[in-house]
Amino acid sequence: MNIPFNKPWFTGDEPGMLAQAAQSGHISGNGSFTRKCQHFFEERYGFGKTFLTSSCTDALEMAAILAGIKQGDEVICPSFAFVSTANAFVLRGAKMVLADSYENHPNIDADKIEGLITPKTKAIVVIHYAGVACDMDKIMALANTYNLFVIEDAAQAIDSYYKGKALGSIGHFAAFSFHETKNIISGEGGLLAVNDDRFTERAEIIWEKGTNRAAFFRGEVDKYRWVDIGSSFLPSDLIAAFLYAQLRSLEHIQIRRKEIWQKYHDGLIFLEEAGHFFLPNIPTYASNNAHLFYLLAQTNEQRNGLLSFLKKQGIHAVFHYLPLHTSPFYAEKHDGRKLNNSIRFSETLLRLPFFYELKDEEQEFVVGQIRRYFR
Ligand SMILES: *Cc1c(COP(=O)(O)O)cnc(C)c1O
Repeated sequence: MNIPFNKPWFTGDEPGMLAQAAQSGHISGNGSFTRKCQHFFEERYGFGKTFLTSSCTDALEMAAILAGIKQGDEVICPSFAFVSTANAFVLRGAKMVLADSYENHPNIDADKIEGLITPKTKAIVVIHYAGVACDMDKIMALANTYNLFVIEDAAQAIDSYYKGKALGSIGHFAAFSFHETKNIISGEGGLLAVNDDRFTERAEIIWEKGTNRAAFFRGEVDKYRWVDIGSSFLPSDLIAAFLYAQLRSLEHIQIRRKEIWQKYHDGLIFLEEAGHFFLPNIPTYASNNAHLFYLLAQTNEQRNGLLSFLKKQGIHAVFHYLPLHTSPFYAEKHDGRKLNNSIRFSETLLRLPFFYELKDEEQEFVVGQIRRYFR
């Protein structure tokens, strides 16, 4: 068997949508498919104004500009994180104050954030790891008390909820990804949700290179000019057309992904009960959007042993993240606090192959080989 870690799935509607976009004669950004996608998100999830971007990284960079992050500001984010989650704020001159994860979940430990807040703190960036919500009530309460922005890195969190509220609708800003490894894809792609309407107008300008081009095309101003900083954050309408085809199959995709998740869970639960490893823990306040399936080994040696054993059987499992506070770029800038849970997740987490087209017999093979390893 050769089972890849990921395989992008196409609904079959993409070529038709791409042709429609091309025939419309408008393939640059902010065209009709862009607006269709944005409308979809705003209607379905109750986000404020949304902006399609070329990546989640771009959406995070827009959020950092909108939050007014500048040299010397402090931004709290988990150390167990993707690079862009921190880098977007470092680009604006922020000092990242890296926080630890819960002992039993890779998400930022909401009870340890308050101790990191100083007069320089401007924002808290959270990641809903594996699409599982952070404890947003606690985090939003801190933000209110200390007047901070909350940015949700919801890259993995499409169609997932916290106490019934869609992830991405709770913080001031939220960023999603449609990279080919996510649930809904457009190759590269992302979305910024602006939930605080004080920032909607400025977001539109930053999105379009610092110009009031969008207002010009709506006939609101007589010329379009350079009015602020910005960049070319908006994707081509071809990307939006591709994404729109995927969005139309969102429910179908999610049903299949949840089946896959459950099959891994049911096939492996007795090994957890036998004490070999831990399976993902989903707090009662969070839903599961079946973005990924991981297990947590007892030790780094056991994780690496299992990883290479699976590789020999043709199964491509992977691990991530390398904690940001130990990274070549940030280790020296970090204040020296030990973030033991981040390190442990980095050393023991193993992600299993997970994609729409994963066949039952392939999944049974993966589960069977893991059982064999622990026998
Ligand atoms: C995938 C991912 C990103 C980056 O998304 P891009 O669209 O590739 O920029 C950022 N944060 C998290 C948590 C991710 O999983």
